[in-house]
Amino acid sequence: MFSDGNLLPSSSEELEVLIRKNVESCLHITSSAPMGGKNDPKAVVDNKGKVYGLNGLYIADASILPDVPSVATNPTVIMAAEYIADQIKKNY
Ligand SMILES: Cc1cc2nc3c(=O)[nH]c(=O)nc-3n(C[C@H](O)[C@H](O)[C@H](O)COP(=O)(O)OP(=O)(O)OC[C@H]3O[C@@H](n4cnc5c(N)ncnc54)[C@H](O)[C@@H]3O)c2cc1C
Repeated sequence: MFSDGNLLPSSSEELEVLIRKNVESCLHITSSAPMGGKNDPKAVVDNKGKVYGLNGLYIADASILPDVPSVATNPTVIMAAEYIADQIKKNY
């Protein structure tokens, strides 16, 4: 029985219809300010998290991931943020 109270479909066709109706992907939201090369029109930050065109502003969160990672986002963000923080410390 499904959580909505319906019984399991009796045929594979019904099952396929049910799956197509109900299954959806659930990706974490990332990449709204992506990292990229300076000639990349979509890039907001460089490979050290520095915002193009501004001095002293860095981004170190999931927004800079160029694409949704195929691994857990939390440790990916922590790793990127630690790297960016180290790069900033080296420059000051
Ligand atoms: C329900 C759920 C389950 C998840 N499970 C997992 C998991 O099992 N494994 C995994 O790897 N990832 C998981 N994630 C994803 C992971 O939590 C995020 O990808 C990660 O936290 C993103 O980091 P972030 O720094 O970009 O954003 P956030 O962690 O959201 O940090 C943003 C921070 O900015 C602060 N903030 C927002 N606006 C302002 C403002 N105006 N001024 C000052 N501060 C502000 C917020 O308070 C927050 O502290 C899950 C996410 C959700 C929602």
